[in-house]
Amino acid sequence: MLICATCAVERDEPTPELCPICTDERQYVPEDGQKWLTLDGLKQEGHRTLLTENEPGLTGIRTEPKVGIGQTAQLVVTHQGSLLWDPVGYVDDSALKAALERGPVLAIAASHPHMFGVQVEWSLRLGGVPVLVADADRRWLGRNDPIIKYWSGSQTIAEGLTLHQTGGHFPGSAVVHWAAGADGRGVLLTGDSVYPNPDRRSIAFMRSYPNRLPLSGAVALRIAAQLGELKFDRIYGNFNNVIASGAKAILHDSAQRHAAWAGGDFDHLT
Ligand SMILES: [Zn+2]
Ligand SMILES: [Zn+2]
Repeated sequence: MLICATCAVERDEPTPELCPICTDERQYVPEDGQKWLTLDGLKQEGHRTLLTENEPGLTGIRTEPKVGIGQTAQLVVTHQGSLLWDPVGYVDDSALKAALERGPVLAIAASHPHMFGVQVEWSLRLGGVPVLVADADRRWLGRNDPIIKYWSGSQTIAEGLTLHQTGGHFPGSAVVHWAAGADGRGVLLTGDSVYPNPDRRSIAFMRSYPNRLPLSGAVALRIAAQLGELKFDRIYGNFNNVIASGAKAILHDSAQRHAAWAGGDFDHLT
């Protein structure tokens, strides 16, 4: 198994010359070319995992220095067990120990293929827990294994912990709804289809962030309407970008604003 240096997604060997995820229009191959990494090499370079307690029951896991895109994974803990969400492109014994100290890991899932990380490696080192991959995005899977389970629509992980496919950034893009989060007001964990902005009071809806390609207004409104059916007050993105409260209204207003700009309502301001 090798890891793409740019997106940190694992891939079976022999690898293609260029990473298919990074040659897609949503990503990029850096100017100095494709590089492939190994877990041993990353360990020797001094990479390690670091944990952050976001709130009771939600632990962030990131790597330092970052590997690839450098997302923060989230471990969501319920009384039945946990979900590892958007796994990072590196794994070490301390992260595995920390995960298992919080109870059994029930499943691993990613918001979309940019966030696959070394998901199969995490699973195998946790004893072969299921890796849930959206059926609509199976073509982007770089490392195959019998522990992968395909899903679509919605998928319950534990009581009060459910995956919802929204599409958008990828056709299989998904969010996690965690009913007990934010002191019972409800939490969404999102990827690039619903991206909390740096102002912490608005949300972006993009097909590509590095190459700045927006989704349509209709898709932004569709996603906001679908998620508006759920009970939540807080949204965690995967780069420590958080809408701490009032997130449902912010999601609705941001989709309206996106559709208005994309539809030309504000062209007189340009
Ligand atoms: Zn890549
Ligand atoms: Zn992405």
